[in-house]
Amino acid sequence: MAILKVEPLTTARALRGPFDYRRPAAMEDLEVGSVVRVPFGPRRLLGVVVDFADASELPLERLAEPIEALEAGAPPELVGLGLWVAREYCSTPSRGLQLVLPPGTGTGSGRPTRAKVELRAEILPAGEAALSGGERLGVKQRAALEALRAGELSARELASAVGADRQTLRRLEQRGLVATRDSRLRRAPGGAALTAPAERPRLLPEQQAAVEAIVAALDGDAGAPRRQLLHGVTGSGKTEVYLAAVEAALERGHGAIVLVPEIGLAPQAVARFRARLGDRFAVLHSALSAGERYDEWQRLRSGEASVCVGPRSAVFAPVRDLGLIVIDEEHDPSYKQEGDPTYDARAVARRRAEVSDAVLVAGTATPRPESWLELPRLELPKLRMPPVHLVDMREADPRSGPIHPETWAALEAVRVAGTKAIVMINRRGFAPWLNCRSCGHHWSCPNCDVSLIVHRHSGRLVCHHCAHVEVAPRACTECGSTTLSRAGAGTERIEALLAERLGPMPIFRLDSDTAAGRGAHARILARFGEAPSAVLVGTQMVAKGHDFPEVTLSAILDADATLRFPDFRAEERTFAMVAQLAGRSGRGEAGGEVIVQTLAPNAASIEHASRHDSAGFLAGELERRQRLHYPPYSHLVRINFSAEVEARVETAATGLATELRRTLPEGSELLGPAPMFRVRNRHRRRVLIKADDREATVGAVREAVESRAADRSLREVSIGVDVDPQ
Ligand code: ADP
Ligand code: ZN
Ligand code: ZN
Repeated sequence: MAILKVEPLTTARALRGPFDYRRPAAMEDLEVGSVVRVPFGPRRLLGVVVDFADASELPLERLAEPIEALEAGAPPELVGLGLWVAREYCSTPSRGLQLVLPPGTGTGSGRPTRAKVELRAEILPAGEAALSGGERLGVKQRAALEALRAGELSARELASAVGADRQTLRRLEQRGLVATRDSRLRRAPGGAALTAPAERPRLLPEQQAAVEAIVAALDGDAGAPRRQLLHGVTGSGKTEVYLAAVEAALERGHGAIVLVPEIGLAPQAVARFRARLGDRFAVLHSALSAGERYDEWQRLRSGEASVCVGPRSAVFAPVRDLGLIVIDEEHDPSYKQEGDPTYDARAVARRRAEVSDAVLVAGTATPRPESWLELPRLELPKLRMPPVHLVDMREADPRSGPIHPETWAALEAVRVAGTKAIVMINRRGFAPWLNCRSCGHHWSCPNCDVSLIVHRHSGRLVCHHCAHVEVAPRACTECGSTTLSRAGAGTERIEALLAERLGPMPIFRLDSDTAAGRGAHARILARFGEAPSAVLVGTQMVAKGHDFPEVTLSAILDADATLRFPDFRAEERTFAMVAQLAGRSGRGEAGGEVIVQTLAPNAASIEHASRHDSAGFLAGELERRQRLHYPPYSHLVRINFSAEVEARVETAATGLATELRRTLPEGSELLGPAPMFRVRNRHRRRVLIKADDREATVGAVREAVESRAADRSLREVSIGVDVDPQ
């Protein structure tokens, strides 16, 4: 076919591709997904070939030819998926295609950095014999052989351990005493430090049944559902089921994708996959260097590796002959991308599974209402769960502080018993408010409509929405008074209170401040794991990605904090959070208990979580969603407006809302614009649409937004569309 349909890689929204180009004879081997450099008006752009055609609306001789074809390209089978994401999430084809291209394409950063290659050496039987048989060996040669007896080492490790340089290694190899090979250095953040057993345990009957159901689907048995929900509390053996299912897919010649929440939070799970799958395993994550990411991508694309483990973006991994997609912790909010395109990896996984005829397994202890409603369930055994004790903070004496006397008593008991406790609070820093007791002055962010948070450790006031930081004042900047009150509590204050009362028992704090450096998160968990008796205090991070049998108490200090978010998913989030934390206590022989401090003991989420009752919670929640016309009984589309000048936002938001009220299809309801607020010195307003017909609604929104992309008076207003907002 003589015509190429090329979608330019550009951020401009107003450009409506694809554009036609003539295919030169020299570019016969172009495929869908190939990247070409094309003339575009006076410019040159990179573009992706998305289709071929026999004819164009323009005469052939008026069409331009691509200037060159690049080596890199998207896998042809993923081009459609990238374009689907663009349509589904009201983004541009360029942004959608970027998701399926090799890392680094078209970003202007040029060629990806070269793969790091490392020379690895291993001792051979002849080398062993040489050592014991008194063969003549140089000092360095002998030292190198001795060192290699303990196991394979890299050239660099040998050099630093025994001073054996490459020259020494080459001589040993020439004498047939060692074998060397090049290996690509592969690293996975947080995963490399941990090792995990590679043996397969004998599956429990429920695990076996779940695996059989998945295998039946892999084998294409009629009646075996293509999508399934694996429901089981933390520790009930879901990961073992995923591993067995992935192995079954591999045996059948298929590849697999395993999605996990932010990988830094699940080092133990990644280590288990690595241990079981060895070289067939690849990991894709934004914390990898550009070169590492490119390597892993190519290993998958070439078929050298066939299983990809990674966070949401791994749903686009170029796995060949995809047979299985697993979504671990499917309730986790990190599956939703915040920036454009605002895709939801769970929805993309579903689409990808459909078009590649793969099987989808979503696993969690706390399913989303939509999954509970739509997917057939595989149930793992219910484990003995610790009793949950609700502490009503409405009746607490305010002078006793953020930790209730009952919670203190339980913590004291942990210290006496020499076990461990986990304490969670939803806010980092020391205190969420700083006020002057004399004049009432309140410290808030100059760029955002929020309070500044007191961080005592660094002696600063910090905005948690923007980068604003200032030195914490000793006296009031308005009246000079030195009686300042730091109200409320965050992780730092709780850490200090615990240390004061429970010391010398070690207290470890885990939040995004202490876990900032590479590997810091895993280190804190490891130290907590090694300590004989200790408390781990932190934000929601403390409820994820670990398993410590010595924990006999877990406590959440502000279980209703997440309920106060103005979001229809607040109940669902709160339930998941309390249930996840509850699952961290009493895993060992000693049993355990859970304390939930709350101002809302009667909230459905908290009540059901305290009884470990997912089914009851979900039934009620689905009923509420239906009544209020929320997902899964409708689709949501949010439009975000922002600009430095308040009046511009005002004009854009009200204008678009008025237009949409006219053009939206029947069954769509437009709410807002909601009140103005300010973050990072930009004024913001939002409009929310509840829709029955998703496609028609997204279409109408796209029309309205794109017609404004060319409007010069709105140039400074950024308009973002978030489909299925979280
Ligand atoms: P989940 O993913 O639901 O949290 P895991 O698969 O991690 O559960 O299992 C929890 C623990 O129990 C792990 O240490 C795992 O190795 C172990 N385990 C799981 N299934 C079995 C089994 N069939 N036999 C023995 N140990 C098992
Ligand atoms: Zn004052
Ligand atoms: Zn701010």
